[in-house]
Amino acid sequence: MDSPSSSKLPTVAIVGRPNVGKSTLFNRIVGKRIAIVEEKPGVTRDRKERETDWQGRPFLLVDTGGWTPGGTTLDEKVSQQSERAMADADVVVMVVDAITGLTDDDDRFAEVLRKLDVPRVLMVNKVDSVEREHTIWEFLGLGLGEPMPVSALHGVATGDFLDHLVTLMPPEEDESEEPLPVDGGNFLPGVAIVGRPNVGKSTLFNRMIGDERSVVHDMAGTTRDSIDTIVETDTGPIKFIDTAGMRRRARIDEATEYYSMVRALQSVDEADVALLVIDANDGITHQDQRLAERVDAAGSPIVVLLNKWETLSTEAKEEVTYQVETRLHFLGDSPILRVSALTGSGIQRLLPAINDSIRVYHTRIPTRKVNQVIQLAQSAQPAPHGGRILNATQGAIDPPTFTLFANKDIAPAYIRYLERRLREDFELGNTPIKMRVRRRG
Ligand code: GDP
Ligand code: GDP
Repeated sequence: MDSPSSSKLPTVAIVGRPNVGKSTLFNRIVGKRIAIVEEKPGVTRDRKERETDWQGRPFLLVDTGGWTPGGTTLDEKVSQQSERAMADADVVVMVVDAITGLTDDDDRFAEVLRKLDVPRVLMVNKVDSVEREHTIWEFLGLGLGEPMPVSALHGVATGDFLDHLVTLMPPEEDESEEPLPVDGGNFLPGVAIVGRPNVGKSTLFNRMIGDERSVVHDMAGTTRDSIDTIVETDTGPIKFIDTAGMRRRARIDEATEYYSMVRALQSVDEADVALLVIDANDGITHQDQRLAERVDAAGSPIVVLLNKWETLSTEAKEEVTYQVETRLHFLGDSPILRVSALTGSGIQRLLPAINDSIRVYHTRIPTRKVNQVIQLAQSAQPAPHGGRILNATQGAIDPPTFTLFANKDIAPAYIRYLERRLREDFELGNTPIKMRVRRRG
């Protein structure tokens, strides 16, 4: 789903006469970000605009360069297109050309711009080397403030330029201080219950739907013969996936282990959270381990249930706890609940754990906060060999997916370090996280 705030994004318009390098600048800024950039529907081909961001500040960049001239004289062009773009913008970037120097057309653009009450920056492009820097002073006469030298083509000083640009934008809308906002309203979260035969899945499920207040109804599942069960809880409806075999009266014959495995994995693919049920009597078996790995690879958060806990001796409880640490360590921060589906002990903690997992899985963190964490992490421990994350954003939810824009290739170990920091700072718990790295600059 698109961010609901996109209509409120500050707009930055790039203006200037033809050939000064407006589209080169545009591409430099939005550059290699194709994956998270969306073409806005309803925008004519003549006008390029893209959502992008810098230092955690999202904005809409508009390039007026490709506009079809509306008139024959420059005056007409200025008044008909660029003037409108300038008036609509929150910040205007006027581009001039250091190689050609100041022209009459630049004067005309500047005249229009000076009349508008809009923050602006004068960018002198094509300053490809220091020797050319002195040329910027002839543009002071345009009356648009101190000219900023840049080479859009070679990426020289574009970072400084963008830093300055961000300071000219209107103050950011108050972002909710709620740290983990759930994305979107009425979706039906899916829960898969998986585990070896006889670990207590059906008992657990029946206990959950047997709760006094739950209202239960069936729904055809997505795979053949499958039935999902929707349970109304105090915190909203939850769909238990492929529950045909678990309902009291609908018990099917003992399936083969292979078949139930295939089925379990199908249900996990659909799920927003997987409950991995383990018979604590048997400890963490090799099969439990394998199933856990497969479920983990499917990419949804996992809640581990050590079932039949009431039957264990103190010693056995310690042993199983130790086995969880050594044999399921790859599940990271997944909650481990010690329960008895038979007696109901510990089951009250299951629904909160499910809801937490689902909420985090659908978290959308504001770009500004993502950048803060990444910058702090880099100050604490810089990437090796001069690598640097210039900018970061969360491009997708379920699972949270972060895109990092880097100045060069970054070692996988360092990416894992950043992932850990994001997980800790945003309390992402047991949710899987995807990290994407893109080169920029
Ligand atoms: P627009 O018409 O303002 O959008 O200008 P373009 O972006 O199409 O650029 C016009 C020409 O200037 C192209 O040939 C670019 O390669 C060139 N150009 C753009 N930026 C630079 C720069 O920083 N240095 C140099 N030397 N040439 C540039
Ligand atoms: P499934 O094959 O995973 O669905 O397992 P079932 O729910 O059919 O349970 C298998 C057996 O384990 C049944 O005899 C249940 O009564 C028993 N069982 C399930 N949960 C518990 C529990 O928490 N404690 C004990 N002692 N037995 C349990």
